[in-house]
Amino acid sequence: MRHEKQIAVPKFGIKAQKALEESTIAIIGCGALGSLQAEMLVRMGAKNLRIADGDHVTIGNIHRQLLFTEAHAEEKRLKVEAAKEELLRINRNAEILTKPRYITSENIDDFINGADIVLDAVDDVEARFLTNDSCLKAGIPWIYTGVAGSQGMIMPVIPGEGPCLRCLYPHPPEKEDSANCANSGILPMTVTMAVSMQLTQAIKILTGEAETGTLIKFDCMEPKVRKIRVPVREGCACRDEYKTIKYK
Ligand SMILES: [Zn+2]
Repeated sequence: MRHEKQIAVPKFGIKAQKALEESTIAIIGCGALGSLQAEMLVRMGAKNLRIADGDHVTIGNIHRQLLFTEAHAEEKRLKVEAAKEELLRINRNAEILTKPRYITSENIDDFINGADIVLDAVDDVEARFLTNDSCLKAGIPWIYTGVAGSQGMIMPVIPGEGPCLRCLYPHPPEKEDSANCANSGILPMTVTMAVSMQLTQAIKILTGEAETGTLIKFDCMEPKVRKIRVPVREGCACRDEYKTIKYK
């Protein structure tokens, strides 16, 4: 009963429902992207989530971080704790494992170990490349998702089956050279559109229907959505160092 309307959609169906309910999903970041990913996943029936973020809710977050309220900001709540509380109000039986820390090279392997998929929800170039490399090593698919201003980019990365973030960007850009919420601002519409596309890709991966080598770019103000083919890059770590590691 709870999920009958989404199961009724033929492109989703019982297969995607079961995949969501049986998967462990790790979310790196609990800001605009991460809190919305978690909320939609729990509403849709995901039962096992992990969320990591060391940040606290501020009043400037509320316009785009839909799970948080003025009270959370006034109380300077840790984002992962406030999110967990709200998520359990949506489904009291969900298992939400929170890590009130920023993801670093020291703790990422432990955080993603055993997850079926990892969702990028950071606003930080370094953390994103760390996610790429750790997921390649562990054989766990992840979905790159970057948002800034009115634009977003989404690319699923599946170890052993297609390009990775280093195929797309051979040299990680400097923090100040990449568009992010701090230097470009961010619209809530950009966030909701990105999360919708990211979760669709996640469900495709979990049901074995992933689209590898596809970068989705959009501008929600135009509106314009483009799909760009991304090849596996000669000499990339995903082709050499990690080539024998397959998506489990
Ligand atoms: Zn690569």
